[in-house]
Amino acid sequence: MRKLNTQDFRVATRTTSREINKHIALNLIREQPISRVALAARMGVQRSVVSLLINELIAEKLIYEGGNERTLGRGPKPTLLFVKTQNRLAIAIDVRFTKSYLMLSDFSGRQIALETFDTIFSPSELIKELASRVRKLLQAHKNAGTCEGIGLAAPGIVEHRTGRILHAPMMGWRNVDLLDDLAAQTGLPVAIESAPKACAMAQIWLSGNNATADALNFAYVMISDGVGVGAVTNGELLRGHDNAAGEFGHTPLNIDGPRCLCGLSGCWEAYTSNLATLSRYLGRTLSRTSLKNSLDTAERMLTIAEVINRAREGDPRAVMAVQTTARYIGLGLGTIVAAINPARIYIGGEITAAWDFIEDTVRTALVERTLTEAAARTPIEITDVEYPRLRGAVALVAAPTYALPRVA
Ligand SMILES: [Zn+2]
Repeated sequence: MRKLNTQDFRVATRTTSREINKHIALNLIREQPISRVALAARMGVQRSVVSLLINELIAEKLIYEGGNERTLGRGPKPTLLFVKTQNRLAIAIDVRFTKSYLMLSDFSGRQIALETFDTIFSPSELIKELASRVRKLLQAHKNAGTCEGIGLAAPGIVEHRTGRILHAPMMGWRNVDLLDDLAAQTGLPVAIESAPKACAMAQIWLSGNNATADALNFAYVMISDGVGVGAVTNGELLRGHDNAAGEFGHTPLNIDGPRCLCGLSGCWEAYTSNLATLSRYLGRTLSRTSLKNSLDTAERMLTIAEVINRAREGDPRAVMAVQTTARYIGLGLGTIVAAINPARIYIGGEITAAWDFIEDTVRTALVERTLTEAAARTPIEITDVEYPRLRGAVALVAAPTYALPRVA
């Protein structure tokens, strides 16, 4: 049941039911190439009805009929329907503490080009650099298709209505607006979302998962520089009033715990981020400033991947550091399970490279913090996407094409 927002609603028109059915058809075609006959059967409508919808989708260049010409033999012409993704392009941007990433991709998330550069902390300088790189990238690949927008995965809380970054502790940003200037300097529409929310969007829209219960109710947990969660319930990202819902990274495991980059104490992130694991391994507190200063001596900078390697080689301090992080991860997952009851938890981030030897610890801690057997059994799956945040940024541009129109 959803209550009508009498301040913000959309009246159904004569074409509304056709709009919705068209989106159903589009999403069924996305799941797998399907013939008109099979689609009509799947939707439980007459073939003539499906044909009307299909013709509109073809006219809108959202789908095409036929197969890959290179695989065509001399047999009868194939009549399968496919969603068009190849020549619809998006620029995906991931701004992280150390490096920023820029990817040209098609709507399926397939990488066409990728570049990285050292992150610039001044917002105006960063925008200038990004805009210049976007222009060059599109110029270099101008025959690849039409770029329909820029998606940016941001390292902090983003106001949904304006795209303003309200707070990004790692970057030291408060109320930073990248959207308007980046759009003005590139001439492209820009969508900005917090990185974990963007990753959850990609899990909804680009994972290739069929719309099972698992795919509609889940939590995407990103354990990296920071720790963030994109929570999805009933196929929709949980945003809350100000788009700040799902900040499980900053719920306390212990209010007297270690200082978090956000300024509070004992946040889940302060126990489980890469920085937390490194601090534990080194036996000293790492701060954002000490991390920033150590960028100049990058070769001396210890990475989480290296700590995981040392743990694998039996270094007892590394084993302790990683396993302790694993226990805290599991305890925090208990909070997520209690709060949103996901059908599945996806985990992304560098720590997942250690998954084979931390999984038991994570799960034991989760069981400790759950109230029912069903909750304790919540499946946990690591995501093996190479650049999850970039895929998330692509989803910010591509998802609106496939999302159901909002009515009422
Ligand atoms: Zn915090």
